[in-house]
Amino acid sequence: MKLTIVGSVAFDAIETPYGKTDKILGGAGTYISIAASYFGNNSNIISVVGGDFPEEYINLLKNKNVDTEGLQIKSDKKTFFWSGKYHKNMNSRDTLITELNVLGEFDPIVPDSYQNTDYLMLGNLSPEVQMKVIKQLKKRPKLIVTDTMNFWMDIALKQLKEVIAEVDVLVINDEEAQQLSGEHSLVSAAKVISAMGPSYLIIKKGEHGALLFKGDKIFSAPAMPLVSVQDPTGAGDTFAGGFIGYLAATDDISFNNMKKAIITGSTMASFCVQEFGTKAIENLSKEEINKRINKFTDLTHFDNFGL
Ligand code: AMP
Repeated sequence: MKLTIVGSVAFDAIETPYGKTDKILGGAGTYISIAASYFGNNSNIISVVGGDFPEEYINLLKNKNVDTEGLQIKSDKKTFFWSGKYHKNMNSRDTLITELNVLGEFDPIVPDSYQNTDYLMLGNLSPEVQMKVIKQLKKRPKLIVTDTMNFWMDIALKQLKEVIAEVDVLVINDEEAQQLSGEHSLVSAAKVISAMGPSYLIIKKGEHGALLFKGDKIFSAPAMPLVSVQDPTGAGDTFAGGFIGYLAATDDISFNNMKKAIITGSTMASFCVQEFGTKAIENLSKEEINKRINKFTDLTHFDNFGL
């Protein structure tokens, strides 16, 4: 199944209570692509970098069976750079620097070889860029999943709602769901957001897991309780990568399979946070992933009972 991923490919500099990095490989598109690569997919990436972006990072993606024809290289420009610092509790962070550079004027181009894509993952970028990709596809993919953030709700709500109306699955966090819907209860928020178009809604609750909504059906997945979290950067994107990677590989978009995809996403995210940047998800084995999926099963399983 063809999987196409749209998202930033970046340099990040990260500071958490456990350490600090210089410019390292980052970007939502990077995390999504790496996470999705573990399920036997050949995926495509649509993004842009500058001439300062190391070949070594591009090769890392290629080695994960990511086709980079849609990765534009603007040789006279600089790559997008983001820097963030996490607070003591790691649940919140301050953005210290955002240098849009090449991302500021990003005009996504879908290569011919990416047409007929079955699964489309729109990472967190401007709704205008997300829509440009949707519009260039001659055949509507079987499933379109989109991520977004409060920033776009603040400055481009109308365009964001147009994108939301076009997609099948919207992935957002709890605060964003409350902002988008104007509702405090996540169940009420899900009703309001579902009425905007997407058949499925995923609300991420950070270290408290994620909820999947479809009509009146709800599935709740925990996050893996971990002893040590070094760096939460990219956890949401890695979750999305595991989610769509599993769906594309199994080619089954039923509610039941989406539950498994959510557990897969949570599994991949649980690896991501254990080291800085993409390090922890770069070289995972099938055995390690399966072991953690089994842990999730044990964590959540109980026999049906009643009084
Ligand atoms: P997350 O921790 O899931 O919010 O994702 C972090 C990643 O998003 C980092 O690797 C950044 O490079 C990337 N990022 C941060 N701000 C932006 C932005 N305005 N547009 C696109 N990507 C961004």
